[in-house]
Amino acid sequence: MTETAKPQLAPRDLCTGCGACSSGCPKGAIHMVRDREGFLYPQISDGCVSCGHCAHVCPVLKQREVRSQPAAFIVWNENETVRVQSTAGGVFTALAEFALESGGVVFGAAVDEKLQVRHIAVKNKEDIRMLRGAKPIQSELGEAYQQVQMYLEQGRFVLFSGTPCQVDGLYRFLGEHPENLLTCDFACGGVVSPGVWGRFVESMNYVKRHRAVEVRFCEKMKGEKDRRFRVRFEGGGTFDAPLGKSQMGRGIARRLFLRPACYHCAYANTNRPADLTMGALWDLPKESCQKGSVSLLLINTVKGAHIFDRLPLKREGWALEEAVADNAALRGAAVQPPDRQKFFEELERLPFRKVCDRFLSLRPYQGQQGDKWAALKEKLWKKR
Ligand SMILES: Cc1cc2nc3c(=O)[nH]c(=O)nc-3n(C[C@H](O)[C@H](O)[C@H](O)COP(=O)(O)OP(=O)(O)OC[C@H]3O[C@@H](n4cnc5c(N)ncnc54)[C@H](O)[C@@H]3O)c2cc1C
Repeated sequence: MTETAKPQLAPRDLCTGCGACSSGCPKGAIHMVRDREGFLYPQISDGCVSCGHCAHVCPVLKQREVRSQPAAFIVWNENETVRVQSTAGGVFTALAEFALESGGVVFGAAVDEKLQVRHIAVKNKEDIRMLRGAKPIQSELGEAYQQVQMYLEQGRFVLFSGTPCQVDGLYRFLGEHPENLLTCDFACGGVVSPGVWGRFVESMNYVKRHRAVEVRFCEKMKGEKDRRFRVRFEGGGTFDAPLGKSQMGRGIARRLFLRPACYHCAYANTNRPADLTMGALWDLPKESCQKGSVSLLLINTVKGAHIFDRLPLKREGWALEEAVADNAALRGAAVQPPDRQKFFEELERLPFRKVCDRFLSLRPYQGQQGDKWAALKEKLWKKR
């Protein structure tokens, strides 16, 4: 077969790496291959018979259905330990417990022994802790979509949690919205390159002379507003710093090494692919802060509403407009910093530490420019 006969998949700068094409290829002819920036992209091999299934299931090439506007709530898990271990208010754990109590299987992102992030299936409550907490790195789905399909076919209830593009990819792969599948996505500001994260891990291992064995990206500390980036090494050593003061955290805040598609994200709005959308609440009035961390929850579908009614979560109704004003990831895609390309070029020719010092030095971070919503946020909170 000639090169030109191969199906046309999403353009590189829009491909989210969801892998629906590769997971769905009937010939197993599409492999997800890492590029020089460390992100996975589909590569069509000679086994391709040009059936076109991959282009058919690609979410980027398909017009998305426009749903009616979701209902918004402020919610939090009553269990304080769970809230402390979660990134926001511990909604995910409540959902996961519900799914497992219903005899189901829960899919979400966990950190493996090499500290890479990948989707795994969890079948008992003790293992929910592996999925708890946001990992900013793009998680590798591997065969998660096929496994979800297998459990659904066995009649099991499945909860799939992931970025909105991963959830959309799952539905496109399945080709339907099965009754026994519940999905949750989250307000997502973009995913970090697994390749860059790998370089951070290597560099930390080298500096500490021991292998890093555990990482927490946004650990909560009592009485501290800043999240902590904590790494534990073999032999007992640790790295522990406020996330915003670590080079990794600064790279995340600067959106320096996000996947190219994240800068054009089609999901950074309130038309969500999942049944439920979780989010963090950023600008909380003081009195609400005293409740501990809380989540934003968007109820996007009837199924989502039905299950939300059965969850043991504390809740307060919230105007969608206020939720959107509070959460930048529901208003638009991350803005690409002008030095992103330079960063990746330098990464190929200079030692990693030098590149970090050049791009991630600890100047106070000014935030992204032009938050036209700031005034509206202030007005809305004052009204409360
Ligand atoms: C890459 C990323 C970007 C985010 N950006 C924003 C943002 O811009 N605005 C905002 O309000 N909140 C953001 N969050 C945080 C998100 O809102 C919270 O993780 C979510 O609200 C769940 O919080 P929780 O307390 O209910 O549960 P937690 O216990 O914190 O839930 C963790 C859940 O997130 C999933 N997860 C963790 N890491 C990944 C990953 N790399 N890929 C896919 N799924 C993952 C887990 O499977 C689990 O389901 C982001 C999280 C991630 C992972």
